[in-house]
Amino acid sequence: MARELLIATRNQKKKTELQEVLAGWDLRLISLDQIETMPEVEEDGATFSDNAIKKARTIAEASGMITLADDSGLVVDALDGAPGIFSARFAGPGCTDEDNNARLLELLRGVPEPQRLARFVCVIAVAVPGGGLETVSGICEGQILLAPRGNKGFGYDPLFLPAGCRQTFAEIDSATKNLISHRGRALQAVKLALQRLLDTEGWVC
Ligand code: IMP
Repeated sequence: MARELLIATRNQKKKTELQEVLAGWDLRLISLDQIETMPEVEEDGATFSDNAIKKARTIAEASGMITLADDSGLVVDALDGAPGIFSARFAGPGCTDEDNNARLLELLRGVPEPQRLARFVCVIAVAVPGGGLETVSGICEGQILLAPRGNKGFGYDPLFLPAGCRQTFAEIDSATKNLISHRGRALQAVKLALQRLLDTEGWVC
C-alpha cells in the first residue's frame, strides 16, 4: 500500500504540480478537501519559513499524517522587502491580483529600472506528527517592469521579468515557468527532504 502525504492546501493546481514532481514515487497525495475538517491556520509569522512551518506542524499534529505546506511571495528591494509575506493581501483584505499589481506599480512610481530588482521566494515545510521537520526553499531573481505584460499565470506574474529572460512570467507557458520559478525550484528540493524523512522516520503507511 502506498504511503500517504497530506498537502496543506485546497489549491488543486498546487497538488497537481506536486503530483508531477513526485511521479514514480510510491506516495499517495491527499489534500485538505479530502479529509475531515482541519483547523484554519492563521499565517501570522514574520517570515515565509515561519508560516510554512506553522501550517505543516499544526496540520500534521491535527491529522496524524506527514504534512507538506508552503508559503511564497514577492520581495522587492526598493520597497524594503515588501510585499513579502503580505503578497496575497498587499492592497488590503479581499483585494484582487489587479489591485495588488496596481499598488506595486504605484509604490514603485519613479523608481528607475536598475533599482527595480525583486525575487519570488517559496518555502516548503514537511512535518512528521510528533517528529521531524524538513524545510526547503526556492528563489527566482528578476525585476519589476514599468507596466504589466502577458495574461498567463496569476498574481504578480505580468510585472515580473525573470533575470536573463525576455518574457515575463505571464508570457511564458507554465512548464517553462515551473523550470525556473521559486516554487519549481523548491519542489525539486523537496524530493531530497522527503527522501531524508523516509530514511530517518521509518515512514510507514
Ligand atoms: P501562496 O503562499 O502560494 O498562496 O502565495 C501568496 C501570494 O504570493 C499569491 O497570492 C501571489 O500574490 C504571490 N505569488 C506567489 N507565487 C507567485 C507566482 O508564481 N506568481 C505570481 N505571484 C505569486
